[in-house]
Amino acid sequence: MNSSPKYVYVFGSQRTEGAADMKNLLGGKGANLAEMCRLGITVPAGFTISTEACTAFTERGRAAVLQMIQAEVLQGVAFVEAEMGKSFGNASDPLLLSVRSGARASMPGMMDTILNLGLNDEAVQGLAQKSNNERFAWDSYRRFVQMYGDVVMGLKPLSKEEHDPFEIIIETLKEKRGVKLDTELDAADLKELVQRFKALIRARLGCDFPTDPWEQLWGAVWAVFESWNNERACVYRELNDIPASWGTAVNVQAMVFGNLGNSSATGVAFSRDAGTGEDLFNGEFLVNAQGEDVVAGIRTPQQVSLVGSRRWAELALISEAERASQYPSLEELMPPIYQQLLKFETLLENHFRDMQDIEFTIQEGKLWMLQTRNGKRTGAAMVRIAMEMLKQGMIDEKTALQRVAPDRLNELLHPIFDPKAIKAATLIARGLPASPGAATGQIVFFADEAETWAKAGKAVILVRQETSPEDLRGMSVAKGILTARGGMTSHAAVVARGMGKCCVSGAGAVHVDLKAHAMTVGDMVYNEGDWISLNGSTGEVLEGKVATKDAELSGDFGDLMALADKYKRLEVRANADSPADALVAHNFGAHGIGLCRTEHMFFEGERILAVREMILADNEAERRKALAKLLPMQRDDFEGLFREMHDLPVTIRLLDPPLHEFLPQDDANQRVMAAEMHVPLGKIKMRVEELHEFNPMMGHRGCRLGISYPEITEMQTRAVIEAALNVRALGVHVKAEIMVPLVGTVREFNAQAEVIRRTAATVFAERGETLDYMLGTMIETPRAALIADSIGKQAEFFSFGTNDLTQMTLGFSRDDAGKFLPDYLKRGIYEHDPFRSIDQKGVGLLVQMAVEKGRSVRPGIEVGVCGEHGGDPASVAFFHRVGLDYVSCSPYRVPIARLAAAQAAIAG
Ligand code: ADP
Ligand code: MG
Ligand code: MG
Repeated sequence: MNSSPKYVYVFGSQRTEGAADMKNLLGGKGANLAEMCRLGITVPAGFTISTEACTAFTERGRAAVLQMIQAEVLQGVAFVEAEMGKSFGNASDPLLLSVRSGARASMPGMMDTILNLGLNDEAVQGLAQKSNNERFAWDSYRRFVQMYGDVVMGLKPLSKEEHDPFEIIIETLKEKRGVKLDTELDAADLKELVQRFKALIRARLGCDFPTDPWEQLWGAVWAVFESWNNERACVYRELNDIPASWGTAVNVQAMVFGNLGNSSATGVAFSRDAGTGEDLFNGEFLVNAQGEDVVAGIRTPQQVSLVGSRRWAELALISEAERASQYPSLEELMPPIYQQLLKFETLLENHFRDMQDIEFTIQEGKLWMLQTRNGKRTGAAMVRIAMEMLKQGMIDEKTALQRVAPDRLNELLHPIFDPKAIKAATLIARGLPASPGAATGQIVFFADEAETWAKAGKAVILVRQETSPEDLRGMSVAKGILTARGGMTSHAAVVARGMGKCCVSGAGAVHVDLKAHAMTVGDMVYNEGDWISLNGSTGEVLEGKVATKDAELSGDFGDLMALADKYKRLEVRANADSPADALVAHNFGAHGIGLCRTEHMFFEGERILAVREMILADNEAERRKALAKLLPMQRDDFEGLFREMHDLPVTIRLLDPPLHEFLPQDDANQRVMAAEMHVPLGKIKMRVEELHEFNPMMGHRGCRLGISYPEITEMQTRAVIEAALNVRALGVHVKAEIMVPLVGTVREFNAQAEVIRRTAATVFAERGETLDYMLGTMIETPRAALIADSIGKQAEFFSFGTNDLTQMTLGFSRDDAGKFLPDYLKRGIYEHDPFRSIDQKGVGLLVQMAVEKGRSVRPGIEVGVCGEHGGDPASVAFFHRVGLDYVSCSPYRVPIARLAAAQAAIAG
């Protein structure tokens, strides 16, 4: 025995070397194929070449890896030969293989599968004789040459309108024969296709199609390894945070044939509904078909279960009689096979304790399983499946909480179409409800155009015949996706659900004309740029823009949130500036307001006039006169906030932005302002000039304003305290927290604290009553973090303003970072956008240090965070670990933060 490392792992009925927990080494597909064999499920025998071989391939190249794995691959093929009782390369009874890529995480951007490998002009005769089915043999060969020519040999369309040169040849032949479906082509037609395909390959690539099965096999293996670094795989990795170092495995497996006639079929199924989460087994299949025919959407697939089939027919407006005769379910068509599939599905779901997405093929009445994995699903389905599996006793509470990706809750929180608006809208067509949601946008027909338009700030709907992995980037920027072909398991449907993107698939009445950049439905023509709306929950395609309304949160959502609250330690507050925002936040379960930006109250209606009057004032007396006008308005706002939040804390930040933000910067608006306020235009222009700063982010803002103009701080403090007293009189337990922004030194804080305390005392004296309030500071300059112990002696709470802290610690202006940050991310200089997810090693260290320093002088000092990061799950986990008391985020992210906080607590 030699002790060289192992690269090949076999699976089959006699012996299986892999298992489900070996995904890092064998990829998801390979590990689960092995696991299914271990569970006694019928799987065609095969072997997996490990991801380590892929890594070696990337680093050391083909020749070196051939040396490493050749002997093991030969043994692997011999194992499959023994299991199947056929031999590879034997022309009279050939063993055919599939070559399938499979990374740790499922990646639609990777190499397409190659089926029927091992066929050549001799073997196809043998296959025909052995199966006694000439059409089948040539159909298999035709598919093989097509897939191999595209995927391994790299024959690509010459233009994007050409789409797929092989399909064009097929279409042309079908037209010539006067048939509609591929299945109507006979053996001679298919033979002609093979010859035409080979000629095309020779003409375009200048080489012959390989006839030697071993050459074919190695070519396919290298193509899989190379595909790990192809453009669309890289795009997918980028979109999904998958490291390039993982590599992909290669699965080589004996073929089974779904295209052997009417007792054969191929299909895809989900153990629960991937769109809604309902515990309903269903899927799609095609009789006498192979491989990805179902996904490609070339023929209308039939439904697996009877219940599913009836629902599908209802949506497609197909009568029960027509459904039963034209599109019977597998349950009706092949009852014993359906029962066995149901048994496997249940076994797998119970085994993996999660919703399974399975692929199967039926060869002449025998069921073979080809893949199982935890299925991709919408946010709504995540919630429902997790909560129902919990109730069914399949998983425990912690697992249920971990099953929902916090960010995906977004899909449940955002608006849906207003039913009234839908009724009024014109229906263009109906497709399948492939991925729920409401989308409105302008039509585009190409993925790259979707990107360009989206970059220009337009809302687009990507309309395609069907999508392919090349379209990923375009799909990710579109508001919604509409396809003319394809079922619930088509590429578009699966990817859209994974992205949480609204998608209507298989809208058969829609005819896409790529050359004209138009889609037609009957006599109606819709051009690029026209507005349409998609309802991904019903499959409706509507004309124009359709109005939306707020989502209704279902019972499972509420249960999940209650469960999250049970496990989380971090409190979640909201950033809210108006009573309306506060109401939304409260409904989403916010535990108070962590940041009220008082300046946001300054823009509404006539307030802006008073603010501008204050800014234009030449002296303190004039400024006070203007501030006196603002006082009652601010007080009203604060009363509203306190009332909405009942006895929960409300943190109010004193005026923060530089004053120039309140003045119009352009001539036209300056003229309007001059006329409105009856002041000379020159005075306004002069003030704008005076307020101009080279770097406003580090200019006259934050507590620096209150230091220069203490009367602003006085007015704001008075408004807070008077509002609190007024609302307390109504029986509310007000918890007001006044917060000083952008502090860098203790004296800065003390100067503002003196004004605040003095003003509060004045109000108490006037009113003859007092009230507890807290006086604290933001920690958002690096200096404040460094001296947090000195500041902590004075301030009663800290709130980390991680947006400013990130800007100043990294030295990146948030408003300018867009110019270079994309390059930084692409090159991995920063792994994540530091304004979205906290830079744990740098900025995070400052936070951690400031918390420790603060607690060292004031044990139990309240510490929270109120930057954008408060709603980012990875950042929330970090804030949990460094022991903050709360995070505060925008109202719509409150449920996301609550779940993220629970997951952080569970992770320990
Ligand atoms: P993907 O990762 O894109 O799903 P797969 O490797 O699962 O690609 O292959 C796609 C399809 O090809 C499968 O769903 C199955 O229908 C078909 N296929 C793959 N291997 C075999 C095989 N050994 N026998 C028959 N069909 C196969
Ligand atoms: Mg698959
Ligand atoms: Mg700030």
